[in-house]
Amino acid sequence: MPLVVERPRTGKPRAGQVVVAIQPHSDDIPLFAAGTVLKLVDEGAKGYLVRVTNDDMAGPGSYAETVAANARDMKAISTLLSVERTFDFNYNNHMMDNIARSELRARFIFLFRLLKADIIVTYDPWGEYEENPDHYLTSACVEAAAWMAGGAKDYPEHFAAGLSPHAVTEKYYFARFQQRVNRVVDIAPWVERKIDVNLENKAQGPAGEQGQRLRARLDAQGQRLPLLGPDDTSANRNYVREFVLQRDREIGARHGLTYAEQFHYIGPQENRVEEYIRKNAIPR
Ligand SMILES: [Zn+2]
Repeated sequence: MPLVVERPRTGKPRAGQVVVAIQPHSDDIPLFAAGTVLKLVDEGAKGYLVRVTNDDMAGPGSYAETVAANARDMKAISTLLSVERTFDFNYNNHMMDNIARSELRARFIFLFRLLKADIIVTYDPWGEYEENPDHYLTSACVEAAAWMAGGAKDYPEHFAAGLSPHAVTEKYYFARFQQRVNRVVDIAPWVERKIDVNLENKAQGPAGEQGQRLRARLDAQGQRLPLLGPDDTSANRNYVREFVLQRDREIGARHGLTYAEQFHYIGPQENRVEEYIRKNAIPR
């Protein structure tokens, strides 16, 4: 499949569509896909954000304090991403390989039918060298659910409850390490807002308040970095731009862009029979 560079578009070409961004942890979408989610929502798509775990292994203090700190971050991130609402599935962090895949898959099928999801953004189920079981379990179940949600016989009780079969037609899969990239999204117009989102990952991850921590550490050693600016606010912001978005600059540079996010993208399947009819049918 040829590589496509997806550029900013004017107007609301995504009006009437629904995008569901799915992250195992509070910092996954902010790091790898916040620019693209912001773009899709700005283009008119209705957004939803799902967090699959409770993030209880990554953050400050006790387990309970870690969960609470990540819940705060998730709320702040969802506001900045302008999503309609969020869903927290609340599984234990790092332990997702203990849960039944069929259960998680069924939860996604229900959600995709309920929200009438057209577009999903999540980890690449075929991303290589991924270490975190939450990442590959989530994406494997999302991949199956995106397809099965369109089935007319799977989970008939959903139909009795008023839902209809509804397959997801577009998938943006990102990866931490290697993947087959066929879509590069120009996120230049959304860079400052992507930084805003990443600043809210205070409990965990490489962004949040790392800048002010580095500034304090250097200060204690009698040093300072001009990059970090005069105060904590500038330190955090400049740190995220320099170090967290370095990946986005590197991806962009390979395609003549300033900042970009990359994906394995799967689009709507073409219907060859209907296409043939459209081109060839004549009056009887
Ligand atoms: Zn993660």
